[in-house]
Amino acid sequence: MAEKEFEGHNHMLKNLGIDIGAHDQLMQGLQPMFREVFLSQKNRPKAMSYFDFRMSEIHGCRIRELSEHKEKGGKVIGAFCLYVPEEIVLAAGGMMVGLCAGADIGGPEAEQYLPRNICPLIRSSLGMKLSRLCPYFELADLVVGETTCDGKKKAWEIFQDLIPLHVMHLPAMKGTKAQELWLEEMIKFKEKVEEITGNEIDAAGLKEAIARVNRRRAILKRLNETRKISPTPISGKDALLVTQLGFSDDIEQFLEGAETLRQELEQRVRNSQGAIDAAMPRLMVSGCPMVLPNWKIHHIVETNGGAVVCEEACTGQRYFRDPVEESDGKLDNQLRVLSDRYLKLDCACFTPNDDRINNIIDLAQQYRVDGVIYNILQFCTTYAVEFYRVEKALKGIGVPVLRVETDYSQEDIGPLTNRLEAFLEMIRKTH
Ligand code: SF4
Ligand code: SF4
Repeated sequence: MAEKEFEGHNHMLKNLGIDIGAHDQLMQGLQPMFREVFLSQKNRPKAMSYFDFRMSEIHGCRIRELSEHKEKGGKVIGAFCLYVPEEIVLAAGGMMVGLCAGADIGGPEAEQYLPRNICPLIRSSLGMKLSRLCPYFELADLVVGETTCDGKKKAWEIFQDLIPLHVMHLPAMKGTKAQELWLEEMIKFKEKVEEITGNEIDAAGLKEAIARVNRRRAILKRLNETRKISPTPISGKDALLVTQLGFSDDIEQFLEGAETLRQELEQRVRNSQGAIDAAMPRLMVSGCPMVLPNWKIHHIVETNGGAVVCEEACTGQRYFRDPVEESDGKLDNQLRVLSDRYLKLDCACFTPNDDRINNIIDLAQQYRVDGVIYNILQFCTTYAVEFYRVEKALKGIGVPVLRVETDYSQEDIGPLTNRLEAFLEMIRKTH
């Protein structure tokens, strides 16, 4: 990036209240990490250059685009979870961004409020805000929380003193009563968004917004289909990066970049051109979300002779698997369809959660995986306990699974690498 441009970005970030010194340090740490994890890969699709660029500008151009949207009177709404319907925000002329917290940042600040034994995603979310390092947080006119796990549920009580917050109350089980409750939450959210944006949502606007978000889901789904083929035409790291960026990037630009990548990947499949050798064990990573810039498990696997070909996670299949039905109906009906689709998501916070178990089996078979890495963020009880049923189901179809528990620090890289290497070795011997 040109020096002048960099200074311009810093000026913009300073105006948002970002701690520039600490932010520079963060970016200086991120750049070599990105080079090591991504740019050092061989056989990368050329079309990844769009995503490399957007990643390099994640606190630059993208922030400028959102700021310009705000200067024209638009609003920005931040969310942490897949249960928050972006379609409602778009239908009211707003923009939604994922408030990703995948880095080991702001721990000491967050620990003034939170216990030490809390999931790194929650700690980092609060840490980002308290240490004034996330421009997305500072741009958000409203942040939306949800009552998924206990940690988040209670953390919103702290967040509400720091930011304008709206909480969506998610039922813990599915069924007719839950659908009614969730529809009520959807309507309350719509009203809140209308209040913040000053724009009323109508059926035509919601229909268009549903179609836009579906287009992003569809391209991600199609890109990921190519990973079913051996050799996989794209590394797991690159595929994960594309999905992660989908949470913050401008939809239209993202669609263009992803379409170019789709064409290249499908051509690679026709030419049997792999990003990773076909002889490498094919793995699925299942479990907690891996939000930017968390690439830890994928990086270890792919630098130790494995290929990640599928993510059963919110930063993966759960995000793009199911479109929202597009109907011409009245607004009431559209909201119900939207609400039912979102309630179908199979996060581990539900009980019982048969859908997730069935989906994992289905994905393991479709992507012809040789093994599954079950990824738990430290202290995430819901995903940790659900491992019991996942392991049982995978054993039933003869797919080995390794449970790993990790956080965002670099401290466990050594032991984690040893365990993943041993798992890959075991797979190689038995296949
Ligand atoms: S894992 Fe559950 S709580 Fe976390 S982002 Fe996904 S749906 Fe939301
Ligand atoms: S990873 Fe687990 S503990 Fe952390 S926010 Fe998500 S569901 Fe909650």
